Amino acid sequence: MIPAQFSYRRVSTVEEALSVLGEHCDEAQVLAGGHSLLPLMKLRFATPEILVDVAPLAELRYVRVEDGTVAIGALSRYHDLHHDEVLRRHAPLLAHVSGSVGDQQVRHRGTIGGSLAHADAAADLPAALLASGGSLVVRGPGGQREIPAGEFFLGPFTTPLEPDELITEIRVPDAAGTGWGFEKFTRRAIDWAIVGVAVLGQSVGLINMGGTPLRATATERALASGASIEDAAALAADDASPLTEPHASAEYRSHLARVLTARALTAAAA
Ligand SMILES: Cc1cc2nc3c(=O)[nH]c(=O)nc-3n(C[C@H](O)[C@H](O)[C@H](O)COP(=O)(O)OP(=O)(O)OC[C@H]3O[C@@H](n4cnc5c(N)ncnc54)[C@H](O)[C@@H]3O)c2cc1C
Repeated sequence: MIPAQFSYRRVSTVEEALSVLGEHCDEAQVLAGGHSLLPLMKLRFATPEILVDVAPLAELRYVRVEDGTVAIGALSRYHDLHHDEVLRRHAPLLAHVSGSVGDQQVRHRGTIGGSLAHADAAADLPAALLASGGSLVVRGPGGQREIPAGEFFLGPFTTPLEPDELITEIRVPDAAGTGWGFEKFTRRAIDWAIVGVAVLGQSVGLINMGGTPLRATATERALASGASIEDAAALAADDASPLTEPHASAEYRSHLARVLTARALTAAAA
């Protein structure tokens, strides 16, 4: 498939990116790793008139730890995050999950900011960010704002991002020493999750169990009131609304969520 015609701006600073986005607003779209946007453009589900290529912005590619918070530049690529020693120590769930996204090619191009902005319920990082109690730093013409992950995923592929805003940073509390677990059930190793579960401590994020990435709130409440892992995991699908589609029925997905939650919680508690 061939995308609709578009023009292309490769920017070299965040300020330049914001200025081009502000100038063209609804007609412009940010291009990061391109691994979700370009397929959508080829299918003509996305038809931006101007692509603002932010990939050169090395200033948005970093991992830092300061005052109990881990800050990750939005253009950090999965491959780099997976191998980053600081992230592995202070946010091991995010580092691990970054290594499970797609295949080598996807991991060398795809970015954490792109994954979150795309807001696909089947993606891995959004659920891991929810379980991590993280937030997103966003810059736009009105300045900077910080959006908790729990308020970011509004619906399928829908976020509160304005067209002239750029995610610049992802923040999570330092999780060094906190137990975590991640389970991703796929047909083939490189596939998207049929269902996935990300656990940090007693927080549980669910992948592909509804229209948005979700928290398994019934499970979390049960754990907080002292339930066993087995009893709490049995509630993992209670607040979810999984789809039935050719790869899996809603019932099968709910079953997977319970089984995978028990496994991820057990790993986190070990
Ligand atoms: C073959 C294949 C397999 C995949 N498998 C998986 C998988 O198993 N798990 C998984 O989670 N994902 C998977 N993906 C998706 C992949 O993770 C994408 O990289 C990710 O969804 C988007 O990140 P990106 O950097 O490529 O963003 P892009 O495709 O460049 O952009 C995606 C969207 O986000 C917006 N955007 C990007 N960056 C920003 C920013 N900083 N601020 C504001 N808006 C921004 C863009 O405008 C666009 O709307 C797969 C993709 C492919 C092609």
